[in-house]
Amino acid sequence: MEKSEGKVLEEKLLNNKKSGWERITDKEKENIFKFSDEYIWFLNRSKTEREFVKTAVDILEKNGFRDVNSVDNIKTGDKVYFSNRGKSLYIAVIGAKKLEEGLNLVGAHIDSPRLDLKPNALYEDTEFAYFNTHYYGGIKKYQWTAIPLSIHGVIVKSNGEKIDVNIGEDEEDPIFTITDLLPHLAKDQLQKKLNDGIEGEDLNLLIGNMPINYPEVKEKVKLNVLKILNEKYGITEADFLSSELELVPAFNAKSLGFDRSMIAGYGHDDKVCAYTALRAILEAQNIEKTSVCILSDKEEVGSMGNTGMESQTFDYFISELLNKSGENRPNLLNKVFCNSSMLSADVGVSYDPIYGAVSDRTNCAYSSYGISFDKYTGSRGKAGGSDANAEFIAKLRGILEKHGIQYQIAELGKVDVGGGGTIAYILANKGVEVIDCGVPVLSMHSPYEVASKYDIYSAYKTYKIFYEEA
Ligand code: MN
Ligand code: MN
Repeated sequence: MEKSEGKVLEEKLLNNKKSGWERITDKEKENIFKFSDEYIWFLNRSKTEREFVKTAVDILEKNGFRDVNSVDNIKTGDKVYFSNRGKSLYIAVIGAKKLEEGLNLVGAHIDSPRLDLKPNALYEDTEFAYFNTHYYGGIKKYQWTAIPLSIHGVIVKSNGEKIDVNIGEDEEDPIFTITDLLPHLAKDQLQKKLNDGIEGEDLNLLIGNMPINYPEVKEKVKLNVLKILNEKYGITEADFLSSELELVPAFNAKSLGFDRSMIAGYGHDDKVCAYTALRAILEAQNIEKTSVCILSDKEEVGSMGNTGMESQTFDYFISELLNKSGENRPNLLNKVFCNSSMLSADVGVSYDPIYGAVSDRTNCAYSSYGISFDKYTGSRGKAGGSDANAEFIAKLRGILEKHGIQYQIAELGKVDVGGGGTIAYILANKGVEVIDCGVPVLSMHSPYEVASKYDIYSAYKTYKIFYEEA
């Protein structure tokens, strides 16, 4: 039967959106599932920014990348990285064109919302030992009670010795938890607003209940915990003063659903974009412009500090590339930035039918519809947002459509409901063409976020083709 005129016109003129799963071949599905398994493997070993840097540097070294501080000269085809204090990472593959013609940047962040230990963390109350915590980033506090938590990070002794800590991930390890009130006695708690039901000061990690066997000791459970820690790590209570210890969910990322179409895991925001960007720079072929991958720290608390994107450390890295390629001259860095373009790779919001009221159905991202671009961020009238230029979006559309990569362009939520931001504005302020794009997720900032495998692979393909052709 021939198509009606109306149908033909619809197909020609409308922007028909549908699930990416409906368009793929068996071979593509296989690629998507294989890539997803590799991501799950990586994510389960990289729950914090420090661990992400470590896992990534291992992979980079195995693939011929060298620490930029260890090389004197840089030429086309060279692969270098810069680990910024082990907490953020910049990676570059030198292209055929001169650096002053601009870079192709993909920038993600590798910190995720969590609970940090306070400096004076350890205390005892009624024969229970606890760690005091201070939450990091935008969390819903009630989600962090009554789940298994692990402790990750470093303790640095005053003599400079650094101890890596990772307890709660191995099958043999103990885990830790924050208790919640039983419903039988929670009448008053349950009347409170969700935001006040669990107070920040009550997020105390339960770590012990066994007293040491010395009658003269006042806090026997606390001392017993310290004795165990001293035997294992050689530390005393004062060593917590110079530590960075983070509590993250002790459960692992897994395939979600009977159809295994999704991945549930801690820290998709933004390790899913960081991992796909890392894979993209590892695998991009025949690049013209120099490719740079930014894996930034402290995005969840405003990008400040010397490991955050606001830091001059990134400019220093690019200056080093200019110096070591012999290309540098006064103020050239400004020109490099003004000639550069960037995908700010951060997760987006997937439409969630259970909470549909916060979204504009015609301007939200849908899971499995492909990588989601946000033309602009900000809140209450785009305030504080970074707004991508139409010309730049058109160029990207051209590349994606040429290669049949499915994408969507969306907003975070309804206009008056809220908003958000990423590292995009920081690079845009330097003169770079920037747009936000990433994987839409459900349950963002919760201990167990959800992302579509189709979208994860679509983000990887987008970042790779951007390095190759933008
Ligand atoms: Mn993010
Ligand atoms: Mn976030």
